Amino acid sequence: MIDVVVVGGGPVGLYLAALLLQHGVSVRILERRAGPNTHSRAIGIHPPSLEALDGIGVASGLVSEGVQIRRGVAIGGGVEVAGMSFHTVSSRYPFVLSVPQARTEAALERRVRELDGGSLLRGATVTGLHDDGARVAVDVVTANGESRIHASLAVAADGVRSTVRQLLAAPMRVKGYPDSYVMGDFADSTAFGPDAALFLEHAGIVESFPLPGGVRRWVARTRGAGADVPDARSLTGIVRERTGVSVDAGTNSMLSSFGVRSRLVTRMIHGRTALVGDAAHEISPIGGQGMNLGWLDAAVLAPLLLSRLAHTDVARELQCFERQRLQAAARAVRQSEINMMLGRPLPRPLWHARNRLIRYAASVPAINSRAAARFTMH
Ligand SMILES: Cc1cc2nc3c(=O)[nH]c(=O)nc-3n(C[C@H](O)[C@H](O)[C@H](O)COP(=O)(O)OP(=O)(O)OC[C@H]3O[C@@H](n4cnc5c(N)ncnc54)[C@H](O)[C@@H]3O)c2cc1C
Repeated sequence: MIDVVVVGGGPVGLYLAALLLQHGVSVRILERRAGPNTHSRAIGIHPPSLEALDGIGVASGLVSEGVQIRRGVAIGGGVEVAGMSFHTVSSRYPFVLSVPQARTEAALERRVRELDGGSLLRGATVTGLHDDGARVAVDVVTANGESRIHASLAVAADGVRSTVRQLLAAPMRVKGYPDSYVMGDFADSTAFGPDAALFLEHAGIVESFPLPGGVRRWVARTRGAGADVPDARSLTGIVRERTGVSVDAGTNSMLSSFGVRSRLVTRMIHGRTALVGDAAHEISPIGGQGMNLGWLDAAVLAPLLLSRLAHTDVARELQCFERQRLQAAARAVRQSEINMMLGRPLPRPLWHARNRLIRYAASVPAINSRAAARFTMH
């Protein structure tokens, strides 16, 4: 029997598995995808996550691969509205690290394989989960057919459409938003260097972040409801129209569009199974918090799993874990709602007034550093 079965080998499942493997625990990660993820969804790794990733020995490699965003600038109508430095948010990592999610996952997978070459099972889809109070049995479908894996404990890190969450019939609070966005990665044609830039325009926000290799991500709020069909030329058209920046559509290397909703489970612990990451909380990508939140769930959960495996009663600690992590997720939802509100189109007079207010607030050092802390999940 395995100690812990982890459903889902995304960033959260891989990180948790590495933490547990470092303590000599037997782990099996069941991942539906046959090969690694190549899509760069999340790019921002916040300072608390870098501290956590350092605990499994992958932070320094990622830091050397990524771009250190030490400053963000807000621009409106061609003038700087506000600047924000991250130098006070952490003494060790005074920046948000920008790395494509696929590269982050590759670093985590390398670490997992170093610790136990056989722990990650790809092409393995979980279809059933049974908890008899003493152990968990997980049904898995692979190319070789169906099988059942037994484990002392299970962790579901199987993403927003979590199969395990559905099998547990875990209740959720769901909220929809009227916002939709298109995003794409292009050759960097700006002079922003390693800075992030937010264009607070009356037609809707445009965000711009550096990526390694002279690439920049552009995210624009669109007027459609839900996800639009993404198109590199229409995105570069929106960027030029709203910001005056010319981006070469021919250099596009990633394109995606998305609508937004939030979903929070009401409980993360279900008998011998825990829900973490997007399986427990879906947060709007605007603000870049989802992956970070999942890692921090895993960092708090791992020692409790180790105690459970050692037959220590941690019922109260698990309740505390659940309460604290759901509060953190609710805070992240509120932060993303503020970010999305700031990005909505506004009539010109209101837009002028809003940007003046932001300029004033950002000029107050206490407010500025508080906002920097919120943006970096401190
Ligand atoms: C456009 C976009 C931009 C984003 N930007 C950021 C950002 O900058 N910063 C940030 O922190 N977050 C960001 N996010 C959110 C981030 O991508 C997610 O929060 C993160 O991927 C969640 O990790 P996870 O491991 O919980 O789930 P996932 O990454 O979804 O991984 C779940 C894994 O489980 C596997 N799986 C699913 N079902 C099964 C099954 N039945 N059996 C076996 N395996 C299964 C899947 O194949 C997948 O590999 C962004 C999201 C989007 C959509």
